[in-house]
Amino acid sequence: MENLNSTTPDALVDRAWLDLSLATVLGHTKTATALRERVRDSRHDTGIILHGSKGVGKRTLARLYARAVLCETPTEAGEACRTCGQCVSFIKSRPIGYTWLDATKDGDEKTARKLVGELNVGSVAARRVIVVGNADRCTNGAFDALLKTLEEPKSPITFILLAQVLAEVRLAGQSRCELYRLRPLDREDARVTLEAMLCAAGTSIDQRALDVLVAETGGRVGDMHAAVRAVAALSFVTLGWVRKALGHGWVEEVTAFWGTALSANEPPLEALILPLMDDARETQRRVQTVLLRLRPAVLGASAVAVYESEAALVHQHSVIRELSEMLAARAASLSRTPLDLWCALARLWLSDDHGDFDGLREAGRATRLVITEDVQALGSA
Ligand SMILES: [Zn+2]
Repeated sequence: MENLNSTTPDALVDRAWLDLSLATVLGHTKTATALRERVRDSRHDTGIILHGSKGVGKRTLARLYARAVLCETPTEAGEACRTCGQCVSFIKSRPIGYTWLDATKDGDEKTARKLVGELNVGSVAARRVIVVGNADRCTNGAFDALLKTLEEPKSPITFILLAQVLAEVRLAGQSRCELYRLRPLDREDARVTLEAMLCAAGTSIDQRALDVLVAETGGRVGDMHAAVRAVAALSFVTLGWVRKALGHGWVEEVTAFWGTALSANEPPLEALILPLMDDARETQRRVQTVLLRLRPAVLGASAVAVYESEAALVHQHSVIRELSEMLAARAASLSRTPLDLWCALARLWLSDDHGDFDGLREAGRATRLVITEDVQALGSA
């Protein structure tokens, strides 16, 4: 962060946001309207906090608002004019008076003090906007140094703090800012919006692939933009392409594990040793995720909702159905109900943290004991 009048190199590298405005930004109408009112009324002194989950669209909204605040001739609707020197400086990725800090990288006290020192010297811009990304991870010392500037009543600086967890932003900061919570779109809106975005990018998509993308992006507008950018070079997006790009290949390995475990033959132990996928914890989570889908239907319970939460399992009904049938057949051979057998597997896989590779190996062994009903061996395991 040597040159405080420039942005950090990655902050404005994607250009798609330049075409958006506060009026057309997706999914955050209420917040965008409030921000336009602030611009219209030249109410720039109080800082704002935009908070919400990762990928929800905080950064895009921060840029749009910053551009409108810094614009020399904002429109009556509270938008940037896009033609003045300041607006053009954004197009050139060298915005004047705009500073981007990432608290996870620049959030130390020394950097913050240096920034405050330079702010006091003044700037060519009449007003400055400082965006602090990950403000919920700013060190207390750095935050307090910035706070001094936040407190000044007629400050020529507008702070925009971005946070995933509002509660972790220093209370003193929260009380001096206007708070705006950004929420993801609901599922139906997300689907329509994502399809429209892809269409605008000249890309068509297999409807099942679209379902996977909707689940993966969870209605978070920032993630949806990133997904569209990732597929924009393709004229047609297939289900296979999306699964591969999102790293969903693990479903095959984990369903193969359960297929082996539940097959009519007694599986050899080696067949029940899982390959490590990313790390042990993630491997266990994936095994759990598939097991949860195998839970035999209970009257009154809906299984639909869980399907939607795991993008990797969208449109995997046939393999899940096949495994469920194997579970039922296995249970019948042991004279147990499917739910009873499932509960035994759930006790093993859903309750304990198996920790590392050895732990997973042990869990594989215990799985075999459960499905062969070697209760005695299980007790001594
Ligand atoms: Zn302008």
